[in-house]
Amino acid sequence: MPPPPDWWSLTSEEVLQELRARPAGLTAKEAEERLERYGENVLREEARETRFQVFLRQFKSILIAILVIAAVVSFLVGEPQDAAAILIIVVLNALLGYTQEWQAGEAIEALKKMLVQRAVVIRDGEQQEIDAAGVVPGDIVLLEMGERVPADLAIVEATSLQVDEAPLTGESAPVDKAPGRLPPGTGLAERSNMTFAGTTVVNGRGQGVVVATGMETEFGKIAGLSQLVTAEATPLSRQMDVLGRDIGFIALGIAALAVVVGLLQQRGLLEMFLVGVSLAVAVIPEGLPAVVTLTLAIGIKTMMQKNCLIRRLPASETLGAVSVICTDKTGTLTRNEMAVVRVKTPGAEVAVTGTGYAPEGVFLLDGRAIDPGDYPGLRQFLRAVLLCNHATIAHDGVGGWRIFGTPTEGALVVAAAKAGLSRDDAPAAVDEFSFDSTRKRMTIIYREDDGDVAYVKGAPEVLLARSSGVLVDGSVVALTDDLRETIREEIAGYASGGLRVLGAAYRPLPAGLPRTADAVEEDLIFLGFAGILDPPRPEAAEAIRLCRSAGIDVIMITGDNPLTAYAIAEDLGLPSEGALTGTDLEALTDDELEERLRVTKVLSRVTAAHKLRVIDILSRKRAVIAMTGDGVNDAPALKKASIGIAMGIKGTDVAKESSDMVLVDDNFASIVAGVEEGRREYDNIARFTRYLLSSNVGEIVAIVGGLLLGLPLILIPVQILWINLITDGLTALALGLEPAEKDVMQQRPRDPGEPILTRAAFTIILALGALLGLLTLYVFSGLYHIDLDRARTMAFTGLIVFELYNVLNFRSFRFPLHRIGFFSNPALLYAILGSLALQVLVVYVPVFQDFLGTAPLTLADWGLLALLGLPVLLAGEVYKILRSRGGNPRVLPTR
Ligand code: ADP
Ligand code: MG
Repeated sequence: MPPPPDWWSLTSEEVLQELRARPAGLTAKEAEERLERYGENVLREEARETRFQVFLRQFKSILIAILVIAAVVSFLVGEPQDAAAILIIVVLNALLGYTQEWQAGEAIEALKKMLVQRAVVIRDGEQQEIDAAGVVPGDIVLLEMGERVPADLAIVEATSLQVDEAPLTGESAPVDKAPGRLPPGTGLAERSNMTFAGTTVVNGRGQGVVVATGMETEFGKIAGLSQLVTAEATPLSRQMDVLGRDIGFIALGIAALAVVVGLLQQRGLLEMFLVGVSLAVAVIPEGLPAVVTLTLAIGIKTMMQKNCLIRRLPASETLGAVSVICTDKTGTLTRNEMAVVRVKTPGAEVAVTGTGYAPEGVFLLDGRAIDPGDYPGLRQFLRAVLLCNHATIAHDGVGGWRIFGTPTEGALVVAAAKAGLSRDDAPAAVDEFSFDSTRKRMTIIYREDDGDVAYVKGAPEVLLARSSGVLVDGSVVALTDDLRETIREEIAGYASGGLRVLGAAYRPLPAGLPRTADAVEEDLIFLGFAGILDPPRPEAAEAIRLCRSAGIDVIMITGDNPLTAYAIAEDLGLPSEGALTGTDLEALTDDELEERLRVTKVLSRVTAAHKLRVIDILSRKRAVIAMTGDGVNDAPALKKASIGIAMGIKGTDVAKESSDMVLVDDNFASIVAGVEEGRREYDNIARFTRYLLSSNVGEIVAIVGGLLLGLPLILIPVQILWINLITDGLTALALGLEPAEKDVMQQRPRDPGEPILTRAAFTIILALGALLGLLTLYVFSGLYHIDLDRARTMAFTGLIVFELYNVLNFRSFRFPLHRIGFFSNPALLYAILGSLALQVLVVYVPVFQDFLGTAPLTLADWGLLALLGLPVLLAGEVYKILRSRGGNPRVLPTR
């Protein structure tokens, strides 16, 4: 293949010709052929570890080393059965570890697939949104502010297009892009007629033809890897590591004690060795890592079903500890289905009828339908909001209407259409200063017959401040301070009714005026404003109520008018002492602001910088803050918050990439559902961790107790491994599926620094564990001098049976079994039956008998064990009943 030409030195026509492309786009068939030939537009990723590598890695652990040595020694002293059994367990352990790691890897891969980038292309002459991986050379791609450029493009059309190329060139200032040809030697950073994959559009819009995709792009050449989802250590996994270390120390201590006792009792070296191995195995909760990982993997899926797409693993856990949610208003608390209901111009105030986005409705003046054409001020206003606009409306073919573009703009197009206006006969747009939430306005300049005219729309008070005149009855009147005040009051009237208010202005541009936003958006002629209805989401009120009962602070942060925001907050039952604006915020010191935020929950007319400051101040009291965002400007705040939540529907690519979680349906209620799920998951992990540890305590007490009493070894290493990995593993996993406590959303948020093993949890683990151990010891001590194998089988089976009672205790620390319901976690019942069935196999099937050193038991034996286990359950129930006398659920061990 010949090297590609220097695209930047060609004209757009030449580029199109070279690529055999057309402004109307490729045909579907051409695109398919090219996809075949050039491959998908993706960056190749570092190869994942192979399955075998993952498997091998499982053997690199101290535990495994101890076990292998134990197997070798057993073999050497003539116990090949024991040796084989230990090795089988070693392999089993590796298989389990392997399965969980591979599963977690798969989960991350699946998440990556869900996070595909989309691109808008023209194919077969029509605009289409496709998966960015399907973009091929020759495709015409449309670019819009906030989007990530999907491939390397040669620009064919641009209106004030500006791109952030920092990821590629390190240059942080936005770069202007426009079609044209450049000299052949032009360097990458100066190629102003091209845009590159991996950069983002920060202003304006444009179209380009794809010249390179995937690894052929400039970004692909340098990067080769774009990690969307990263497998970071979660606070929980860090806690688990600490736990592991502590357990290691405990193991050493107990082993030392055992050696001292053994020496004093003058036991044989070999026996001491076996005791040592048994203890090591007993101390370590072998099944715990697998159960944690599996539970988290299942959790991420459940969160997805609740429309919370977790991008970084720690987020699912942090979500459960959230204490403040800072949320957008528009689209998150409201439906984002907008309709212009009133328009006020100096000549007339009209009501607008109609439903949805259908361009059918009338303008009512004092209750009578009028023709907007007869009112030049109204007509000019509608024309301005239509021209300064990118949305379009279309019939969806089945009787409904839909919009392309943002709902705010769509609503204005619909209103203009009701007056019979459309953009079809509009003059050419020559310049644009895009909307962003800091500017709160936008401008598009049109080339009209008698010169260029700027059409501006935005927050009305912003436009008013930049206007010097107002259009009354077709002529421009100076905007006096009095008039300005009157208009402000009228705007406030709309806003207090919960309406979103949008103003419009225009300005014929004097020749020679510099074409910068600052120069153009001055000296405007104010046209009027529209009141847009955006009803609150019905489910948001309920979600806010839940947050309040769950001790979660909700703060509405919006770019909208304070009065509008306050009215919506009231509607939703979010009590707030007034509303603060961005300007108010700036006048307050950090301490004052912290104080105000205790009572004022509505922040309006804020910018991205304000959001950052709010996070700073709230995080002073160790709050776990969730912050939503959609725009390019929101990226820093999304990164800074404990959990950055990007909007799935209206969010820009930049916002999504900076977030920890994507809110698929933009709905506030889904965040709250995610928090509830996060709380449930954390509680369950705490439950089974404590459960598994109590089992280890039981094993240690039995072994060490036996040692002190001078008995033979109670449990051999394989039996302990069997319990820790298999029977306890099953029930622990089922404990991970425990439904949320009925009052999870009536408890205060968890302190993120709180350890899983609180003091109370520690006591319970030790107490119940000791009981298990003593019971086991009791069973063994009555039998060992008659038949050692049968005594061990009784101890082994007994411990499992006692554990099956014990797991019921750990379903809740607060509620006795009859309150949570015996049948409310069916998975656990199956796990209990499964464990029992396995144990029956182990006791009666010869192969198992050989490996696990068991002997058959009688029905009476089973009956005795079942009876002996009852006190375990009883102890738990009594403890809970005594504790609940205390009353306050917050001091109880689960939280
Ligand atoms: P929010 O989404 O929280 O309502 P934004 O930051 O998106 O706030 O918008 C802030 C203000 O900017 C709005 O209240 C409105 O007055 C104005 N605005 C919003 N969208 C547009 C737009 N497309 N063009 C012009 N002005 C807009
Ligand atoms: Mg917005």
